Amino acid sequence: MSERVDVLVVGGGMVGSAFALLLKQGSPALNVVVVDAERSEMPAPEANFGLRVSALNQSSEAVIAQAGCAQGYAQLRQCRFQHMQVWDADGTGQVRFSAADIQTTHLGTLVENAAVQALLMQALGDNLRVARVQSIQRLQQGWQVTLDDGSVIEPALLVGADGALSRVREAAGISTSVQDYGQHGLVCTVRTEKPHDATAWQRFLPEGPLAFLPLADAHQCSIVWTLPTTQAEAMLAASPSDFEQALAKAFENTLGAVELVGPRAAFPLVARHAERYCEPGLVLIGDAAHSIHPLAGQGVNLGFLDAASLAQELLAALQAGLPIGHTRALRKYSRQRRGHNALLLNSMTGFEWLFAQQSPAWRVLRNLGMRHFDNNRLLKQAVMSVAMKPAGVHTSLQ
Ligand SMILES: Cc1cc2nc3c(=O)[nH]c(=O)nc-3n(C[C@H](O)[C@H](O)[C@H](O)COP(=O)(O)OP(=O)(O)OC[C@H]3O[C@@H](n4cnc5c(N)ncnc54)[C@H](O)[C@@H]3O)c2cc1C
Repeated sequence: MSERVDVLVVGGGMVGSAFALLLKQGSPALNVVVVDAERSEMPAPEANFGLRVSALNQSSEAVIAQAGCAQGYAQLRQCRFQHMQVWDADGTGQVRFSAADIQTTHLGTLVENAAVQALLMQALGDNLRVARVQSIQRLQQGWQVTLDDGSVIEPALLVGADGALSRVREAAGISTSVQDYGQHGLVCTVRTEKPHDATAWQRFLPEGPLAFLPLADAHQCSIVWTLPTTQAEAMLAASPSDFEQALAKAFENTLGAVELVGPRAAFPLVARHAERYCEPGLVLIGDAAHSIHPLAGQGVNLGFLDAASLAQELLAALQAGLPIGHTRALRKYSRQRRGHNALLLNSMTGFEWLFAQQSPAWRVLRNLGMRHFDNNRLLKQAVMSVAMKPAGVHTSLQ
């Protein structure tokens, strides 16, 4: 016997969980089920920082608050960063952004992915089921999802929030444009000799950007070091002291000596974009729809905007008397989000290319460009206001 629900969200990552909570906030009567293969646990206060962290912008924080988790979020260990400093390894160009420049409290917040996911999953309560999706079938009308605990679910709307290698996307036959950067993002946590000064630091090297992201402890940073795959492998295999020296050197010893805290890991960097976001009765959000180079730390921030936009369109359609998951709402969501995500994806690819160029002409141009940008207060304020300030997020049925 299959179970009928209004909405089945496959993937209770940050994006899928936030989306389900927004929908329930707007229409508590909806029967919304989130399925995830794992339940994320809240890291213990004394545990090492997790390897996966995100720089959430204020729009994402607004979504988390709208999902009913503002209080819990404020209690997570986190670093609200006040400054961002970006510079070119190969010249004199640098850009420094400060929250004070746009009269805001902070430019973003560094939090552990596992903590945000655990917070949102806790808020889901009985709406979360821990099981793995085994198969997804297209029916004459709608979709049928079989879980590895034997249950079979037929939702009015199937939401794919199951990450970059989405099964939902595959089942729907939605193809993706793929760009393999031939790079890995090496991540780890380090203790730094000097305090990080609530600053997100990023140095652009010819091989790729190196980020030192400030954590709740003033002397610990989360590292995202973009390297060609073979170099990433070598750095993973290097002894801790060789690794620490190479990392400090690549960072020009900006925060003094560094010491590894815990393990290292590396993730392949591949940009993907789904050719379309919806089908009748099915829609994609978050990394299932797009995955982006981490150099600007935008991946999950785009996903939270997808979640807010989809919830908003579904609730507006319900209010207009349409059934949940009506194609008109899905198309409106897709129109709103696909162009915006494509713009960011292409910009990141362009940035990555620009900073990889070694010819003298490109080096001069890029350093002049950075200096001009850094000295132009109005231009900087305009860019920061768009990138950092909350976008309007309206999800309640009024
Ligand atoms: C090195 C690196 C650094 C990054 N830094 C940042 C940053 O600073 N800021 C930022 O915004 N983004 C960053 N990102 C990107 C960010 O991590 C992703 O965009 C984000 O995690 C995507 O969230 P999601 O919920 O869409 O997908 P995911 O986090 O991938 O969640 C998908 C969920 O689906 C579940 N799932 C998958 N398949 C199944 C199945 N068959 N059955 C049941 N459950 C399933 C999984 O268990 C998982 O919980 C970074 C990425 C990398 C690689």
